[in-house]
Amino acid sequence: LRIAVLAETDPNEGRVSATPETIKKLTGMGANVAVQAGAGLRSGLRDADFETAGATVISSAAEAVAGADVVLSVRRPTTEQLAGITAGAVVLSIADPYGNEAELEKLAGTRASVVAMELVPRITRAQVMDVLSSQANLAGYRAVVEAASEYGRVFPMMMTAAGTIPAARVFVMGAGVAGLQAIATARRLGAIVTATDVRPASKEQVESLGAKFIAVEDEEFKQAETSGGYAKEMSAEYRAKQAELLASHIAKQDVVITTALIPGRPAPKLVTTAMVESMKRGSVLVDLAVERGGNVEGAKSNEIVDHNGVKIVGYGNMAGRLAASASGLYAKNLLAFLELVIKDGAIAVNWDDEIIKASVLTRDGAVVHPNFQSKGA
Ligand code: NAD
Repeated sequence: LRIAVLAETDPNEGRVSATPETIKKLTGMGANVAVQAGAGLRSGLRDADFETAGATVISSAAEAVAGADVVLSVRRPTTEQLAGITAGAVVLSIADPYGNEAELEKLAGTRASVVAMELVPRITRAQVMDVLSSQANLAGYRAVVEAASEYGRVFPMMMTAAGTIPAARVFVMGAGVAGLQAIATARRLGAIVTATDVRPASKEQVESLGAKFIAVEDEEFKQAETSGGYAKEMSAEYRAKQAELLASHIAKQDVVITTALIPGRPAPKLVTTAMVESMKRGSVLVDLAVERGGNVEGAKSNEIVDHNGVKIVGYGNMAGRLAASASGLYAKNLLAFLELVIKDGAIAVNWDDEIIKASVLTRDGAVVHPNFQSKGA
């Protein structure tokens, strides 16, 4: 059993898909692990650390991939990176399939089984493989740290001999995994925290973290959670009511952190330019949805936009700004997936397993996932 660990090619990607800890486990399962040279550097892991854990370090992707049964990556690998891959090899990554159907067709041509880790269902058995949660949790934390660093004032109330500084007001929009961690982090820093979401279940979670919940709680709100636990796209009518309620609230905030996503859809626009302009100079917004179109009007990927003295932070890949922690958790998510598909030192995928069915994009030369088959296929 051969496992290849690719070095990431995206300059904004500092994470890596295996760590010495997971490599020890994989070699214990009978695998030979080949790590592409330099793969861990931006997560603080040297080639020598991988070698000590039992891996071989190989200079090119092509050599690592040749003969591999499994290929591990953070981002979706390109067909160039997978050149020479064995038919039937299993490729694990955060494949970002939505809107990238043409790329999936090309990957299908490699005859590898390409898996999108972010499509693993949120069922109890798969929690340990849940890359959305492991990465969103870190992103929520980091969003607050970025906001605190860009904000020219402090978060906690400070009573000093020289005077009192009031606590910062932080508003978190979207209280899923990232939002809840953002609430907890802002609370730990002493801010006054409020939060909103469209899923009724989030209200109690927000309140249990010591934040105040603000939302339009009408009939549509009561039905807004899908059976999968995600938010539905809300109607224009709901969005208008939501905007009206939140506009006056946002005007009083020092920091707004937005995390709202809808699976397979562009992120909902929650903060308009007029709302940004209602905030005091020196306020900060952090848009965690920027890579999916953004929750904040005017947010730009990988930039801090200064709009009339209000900063809009649009870092994509927020979890990747904590590369060492993010790699540690991501690598463990992949290990858990591999434990499901490796039996007695060989790949043995149960194609009928609901985790597999939900996450496999391509197989035997075709795009097999129903959400991404090209028109007419
Ligand atoms: P997500 O990243 O898809 O979205 C982030 C949040 O934005 C969600 O809470 C969503 O309701 C909210 N949102 C969407 N549209 C909005 C709008 N118009 N206005 C305000 N908020 C909006 O969500 P997530 O963090 O992946 O979590 C989704 C659900 O999955 C949650 O219920 C979470 O508790 C659950 N979950 C379950 C498991 C498990 O059981 N294994 C693991 C992780 C998360």
